Order: sequence, then C-alpha cells, then structure tokens
Amino acid sequence: MSTTSTYEAVIGLEVHAELLTATKIFCSCAARFGSEPNTDVCPVCAGFPGTLPVLNGKVVEFAIMTGLALHCDIAPRCKFDRKNYFYPDLPKGYQISQYDQPIATKGFLEVRVADESTRVGIHRVHMEEDAGKLVHVGAAGLAGSDYSLVDLNRAGVPLLEIVSEPDIRSSEQARAYMAELRLLLVTLKVNDGRLEEGSLRCDANVSVRPAGQAQLGTRTEIKNLNSLRFLQKAIDFEIDRQVRVLSEGGVIVQETRLWSEERQVTYAMRSKEEASDYRYFPEPDLSPLVIDSSWIADIRAQMPELPAARRTRYVDLGLSPYDAGVLVDQMELASAFDAAAAVSAYPKAIATWLIKDVARLLNEGKLRLADLPFQPEQLARLVDMVERQEITVAAARKVLAAVVAEGKDPAALVAEMGLAAMADAGALRDVIERILDAHQAQVAEFKSGKTKVLGFLTGQVMRQTQGRAQPQQVASLLEAALARR
Ligand SMILES: [Zn+2]
Repeated sequence: MSTTSTYEAVIGLEVHAELLTATKIFCSCAARFGSEPNTDVCPVCAGFPGTLPVLNGKVVEFAIMTGLALHCDIAPRCKFDRKNYFYPDLPKGYQISQYDQPIATKGFLEVRVADESTRVGIHRVHMEEDAGKLVHVGAAGLAGSDYSLVDLNRAGVPLLEIVSEPDIRSSEQARAYMAELRLLLVTLKVNDGRLEEGSLRCDANVSVRPAGQAQLGTRTEIKNLNSLRFLQKAIDFEIDRQVRVLSEGGVIVQETRLWSEERQVTYAMRSKEEASDYRYFPEPDLSPLVIDSSWIADIRAQMPELPAARRTRYVDLGLSPYDAGVLVDQMELASAFDAAAAVSAYPKAIATWLIKDVARLLNEGKLRLADLPFQPEQLARLVDMVERQEITVAAARKVLAAVVAEGKDPAALVAEMGLAAMADAGALRDVIERILDAHQAQVAEFKSGKTKVLGFLTGQVMRQTQGRAQPQQVASLLEAALARR
C-alpha cells in the first residue's frame, strides 16, 4: 500500500509462557495438561479463605535462567503483587503477579530477517500464576452457549510474562522475534513452545506514526495470536487498518482487539484497561524474594548452549550462515548434526546431507528423526565415503534411503547392494568401449560436431554402471575414448 510508506509501524510483543515445572507456582498440585477437570486442585489454588501460598523454587530458577538467556539484569530483590479483577476462572478474585519489581529487566534478543539483524529490547520478565479455564457448553462461542463450566486445573500453573520494548518495525520482525523466543524457551526446557495449544501465548501491541515522528501513536493490543502465521497476518492487517483510519482523518482508539482467522480481520473486543483498573498492591502472604549472586552463578553454569551461540559455532565449523540457521531452528536436526560431525572430517557436507536429503526423506514420510532406526554416526560414515569418492552421490542416496528404512550400517549396505564406486578405470574403460561399439550412429554424430549426443552416451554409461561410476571420471574417459575413434 503506497500510504504505508509514509507511516512507520511500532510493535511490541507480550508473551506468556507456561513453565514446565512438575507442580504449580504456589501449591503442590501437578501442573500438567489433559487431566480430568478439577482433579489437579487443592484449597490453595482453588482460593479457599485462610490458605497461604508457598513459592515454588523451580519457577524462580526458570525465571532467572530465561532472564539470563535474554541478557537481562536479574533483580537481587523482587516482590509479588495482587492484580485484582473478577472473572469466574479466577477463584481468589486476584492473580498473584509482579507489578513494579519484576525479577528481570533490560535485556535483548537478537532477531534476524533475511540478512538483517535487529536487537529487540526486553523490557521485563516477571512471574505470575495462570487462571483456570471456562468451558462453554452448547452452541459455539461464549455468546451462544447455554452455560459455562469452570475447570481450575490450570489455576496456579506458573507463567513467565516476557515483554519486549516497542523496537519491532514490521510483521516479519515480529514473527522472527516470536520464533527466536520460542526456540530459546524450548532450548532452555522451560516451555514446550506450543502456540497452538496455548502453553505459549502472544499479544501484540501495534501503533503507527508518521515516518520520522518521535512520539508514539495510540496503540491497540491484539490477542488470540496462536500461531506465527496468525501473528504476522494480524499485525499486517492492523497496520493497514490504522494507516487507513489516520489517512482518512480519523483517530485510533486504544482498545483490545482479536484476530479472526475466519474473516481475516482484527475486531474490537473491549476498551483497554489501565494498570490502575487492577488496584495492584503488594502480596501480603509472600515475603519479598531475595536472590543471591551465587544462585545466579549456579544457574548460569547449568544453562545449555543457546541458539545464537550454536549458530556461531556451526559457522566456525565451515557451514554457511543459512545452513547453520536451518539446523539450529530444527533442534532434532541440530542434535543429529552434532553427533555426526563429532565423528566426521566433513561437517559442511554432513549439514548439506541433513538439510537436503535427510529432511526430504523425513518430510516425504511425515516422520521425525527419532522415529527412524537411524544413527547420526551412520550418516557420518556415509558422507565420509562420498567425500573420499568411495561411492557416488547417486549411490549414497540409495544407501541413505535403505539406512533410514532398515537402520543397517551404511558400509554393509554398500557391499550388500553392490554400490561401491568403480575405482578401477580399466573396468570403466571397457564399459565405455562396449557402449560406443553399440552406438555407432551416435558416435558418428558426435564426430560430425553434434556434441549434444555426449549427454546420451554419458547416460548409457551411468545406467550400465548403476550409478557406481564417478561422473567426472566417466566424462574424461568418455571424451578420451571418443577422441580415439
Ligand atoms: Zn493446588
């Protein structure tokens, strides 16, 4: 849209991540998905009067780890607050959250779109409890339902809220930020990354302003973005909508909007609450949380290799930045790469085989690597044979398919399938002579200058040798043989 170019979009994302702890944040109930309704519930998470919350230490550990991975400052002292609102899925009438003293602040996440890298600031990371869930019975949706049921299994499940600075300028960047944050959380094993199931949730704050203006425009918040694709589409729609309203002389209303995948639009849900609407005050039942530096150091020492570091390590091994990115984005392939590269002298070739051939075999069969009787070390042996020219690429593809299907050792399969490369130039020369004898007409054509026929003759040799001859060797021997005729 031409008018968009005179406006600039300003986007910030708020992400809620359910933590993969065994128990809830303030009681010992199981924090899990899929139990019978209201079975993972106790007086604490059901909000009975007189009960007291006890903070789960694992939640703090996960929050610190996430804060460190996002380059945040970890607060030596923070506290919890009550966020008051009334809704049937919130049994206490308030949510225990962190208001003015979050556990982590002032971080950043490096985000790449194509070749351009952007540093998106992390405003804050804080801990809070999730609410329960309403199940609407009857016709579809809340409005048309006959009645609603309350399931408190999710009440008290620990959440991290991760709030970015409004540093994002396009829907592509927003998508890349969300994808990178998801990969980070999954790598840390603090969240399962399932946007579709709601264990990772994303809201987008979107505003536009005339290009060059420092002051921010009025923003709207879009909820219900449960896939990367929806996130991108909803932001694109919202940017266009706001630009259109402003271009026509209208004003943007600060409000919460929802994305409708059915209608491909965002629509107003409610006017946006201000913080004062929630009457925050310090949680009197929990003492302030003091975090000493040795605990932070212990957690830092336990952290796995992060995606950004892994990409850098792969590039240092000789992979292209693109290949490194593809592998790291698919943790299963990256693990296989590490195992294979550890026993091979050809990491770059291993990456290529994983990204092209192995990924294709997995896609065709709609499989996961873990489903296959396939060891990364077998791939390493296969790639080594190709690189040492003991088998051709064409033969290796056949072997790989058999390795994936049967889980046998590549070297054994090469012997079994008779696919060892024809290293014997003498034998190959004999094959070529026989083929030239059998195709006198084509030889004559070649001699008269029609060099295109060379492709046909090469094909005959490859077929006769069942892909076991090295193409370069075939080309040179064939040309030499033709020259002698
Ligand atoms: Zn409980």
